[in-house]
Amino acid sequence: MQNARYNVGVTAYAGAEVATGRATLTTQVPWGVDPSEGGVGLGVAATFAPVPIGEPAIACASSTPCRITGPGTLRRGMPFLCYAESVGHAGCDQFKGQNGGLMPDTSSFRAKIERHESTHVAQFNFGRLNGDLYGIEDGSFPLMSFAPPGGPPLGQLTAPTQGELEQAFRNYLILWIRASGDQQRERSGAAESEAWQAADGVPPQYLFQMCHCGSQCQ
Ligand SMILES: [Zn+2]
Repeated sequence: MQNARYNVGVTAYAGAEVATGRATLTTQVPWGVDPSEGGVGLGVAATFAPVPIGEPAIACASSTPCRITGPGTLRRGMPFLCYAESVGHAGCDQFKGQNGGLMPDTSSFRAKIERHESTHVAQFNFGRLNGDLYGIEDGSFPLMSFAPPGGPPLGQLTAPTQGELEQAFRNYLILWIRASGDQQRERSGAAESEAWQAADGVPPQYLFQMCHCGSQCQ
């Protein structure tokens, strides 16, 4: 979660006088802000990316070094959501005891933030904002052609033993996840805008959403 930027237009009527204004505003979200920094610490929630799981297929013929021949059981995992009940998950536990802790299901903001986080989950679906990240299968096994700086593509990687190739693969996988993460971060502004807009209609609404323009609504 991050604060979101909105382009806001305002028209004010006072008798025959009409004034208009336009500005870019950033919402100040109370949860996730440490009480020591002036927030109220309502709790945080988070979506973890669908990192790959499983093992690739490896062939080790006696006369040739070992190499990776296909995706094997590798597949993209599922995005993981962190709320207060997500106890025991290493990624979620980092939020315990800070920023109000993880958001409980008793929070009045829970439905709103669930809509926000479920939008982040959907952004990993094929064709959506982050649908191309962390991919393994998708018919093309894109990880197979991934090459870190100075290294061969994964499909051309060889090692004398299966154990050494498995270790080399894990190193590639870390770099692959990191590269996807870098792209995801570059898109985080667009991702947050979409998630906040999806959650805006879920109560409770923020003060800026509570304006009532009556007959002047457009
Ligand atoms: Zn978010």
